[in-house]
Amino acid sequence: MHPRDDVALEAALRLRDVDPTHVVTVLTLDSVCKDDAVRKLLAQGADEACVIADAGWEQADHASRAELLAAALRVIGFDVVCCATLSADEGLVNALAGQLGVPSMTQLRGFEQVGERLQGERVLKGFVQRLSGPIPIVVGIGKSAPPARYAALKGIMAAKKKPLRRFTVAELGCSALPATSAASAPVTSVPKAPVRIVQGLEPAQAAQAILAFLQERGLLFAQSTPESDGESSVALLVPVGLELVAQEPLPQTQVALEDADTIVSGGRGLGGPAPFNGMLADLAEVLGGVVGASRAAVDASWVPHAQQVGQTGKTVQPRLYLAIAISGAIQHRVGMQTAGTIIAINKDAHIPLAEIADLLVVGDAFTLVPELTRQLCQLKGIL
Ligand SMILES: Cc1cc2nc3c(=O)[nH]c(=O)nc-3n(C[C@H](O)[C@H](O)[C@H](O)COP(=O)(O)OP(=O)(O)OC[C@H]3O[C@@H](n4cnc5c(N)ncnc54)[C@H](O)[C@@H]3O)c2cc1C
Repeated sequence: MHPRDDVALEAALRLRDVDPTHVVTVLTLDSVCKDDAVRKLLAQGADEACVIADAGWEQADHASRAELLAAALRVIGFDVVCCATLSADEGLVNALAGQLGVPSMTQLRGFEQVGERLQGERVLKGFVQRLSGPIPIVVGIGKSAPPARYAALKGIMAAKKKPLRRFTVAELGCSALPATSAASAPVTSVPKAPVRIVQGLEPAQAAQAILAFLQERGLLFAQSTPESDGESSVALLVPVGLELVAQEPLPQTQVALEDADTIVSGGRGLGGPAPFNGMLADLAEVLGGVVGASRAAVDASWVPHAQQVGQTGKTVQPRLYLAIAISGAIQHRVGMQTAGTIIAINKDAHIPLAEIADLLVVGDAFTLVPELTRQLCQLKGIL
């Protein structure tokens, strides 16, 4: 099962909670979701399930999978198709909508039916956007959607009797694996550049090195015009076929870690709660980001658990992740390794985080972070 399939099902069940005439069907490929996982989704509340025996399709690309799912949806019938998505597989949602000839709405944190339309809400680049689209529609459920409901014993018992239909690829009118599959066009991964290490510099020079790196990566607000605050230049496009109902900036304090474009995280090396509420919060504010933390800082009760990044915390994917006084244990890295750019500030040059960081600045966080904030404020014209 895709790790977020239960969250997508939850979104569909909420539609049925409001209008019990809806029938909620789980549709999946058996290479993705085995029978016991399908039963779990039925126990959670789905009315029925359809499984496509897709031997050989494990490696298929989005377009091919979308073709297969669309064929099944035409047989089953549909109004609202809820897909679990991370940003990496948003392409499948759009490809599926394309195959079905209906609009798509992605990264939703919730939606409701309003007459013959679906109104969805999502947080994008620091904005809350409300969109409306005609039903039938395909929706992608984003990272900040409500968690799945608990499958009670009654649901588990009922799941055993719920219908489970099976289709073969041929029954759906699809041929063998199409030529567009990834199997015939292997994806080549681009090797990551080794970490750049900056050490032996005074705090002022080290902060300048970070600013230069941010500039090089296009992550510095100094690139926006003097009138713009960096946010106003963000283009939020409305997908084809949808209508923008409302769009308003989300106050920084309300941006969830999972939705943040910039995260300034701190670890055990900061020694207490004060640096999180002080120097890290200041740096996050000037960068337009939010504060995160390692588990060591959370376990010490310096920071609430909601701010923890990692295996037992949040999985984040910001454009910029600053790891301050964090060593980068594997349990931390699994939660942030797909960040666009990773900058570590640490007094040790040999931390595990160096394996995935783009820039490691070796130095004392207590002198470097305030200096970096000061230089950023100067650049922004605040000082
Ligand atoms: C089942 C399990 C689940 C876990 N889940 C998570 C999780 O979700 N998230 C998570 O983060 N961890 C998790 N952990 C814990 C993880 O293994 C590490 O213990 C934890 O990430 C360490 O946090 P840290 O990097 O802040 O602390 P440390 O590893 O102690 O690193 C502190 C760093 O601060 C640096 N430092 C000290 N003083 C300064 C200074 N003045 N300036 C600059 N640098 C300084 C040190 O050089 C060091 O690198 C989990 C562990 C287990 C077993």
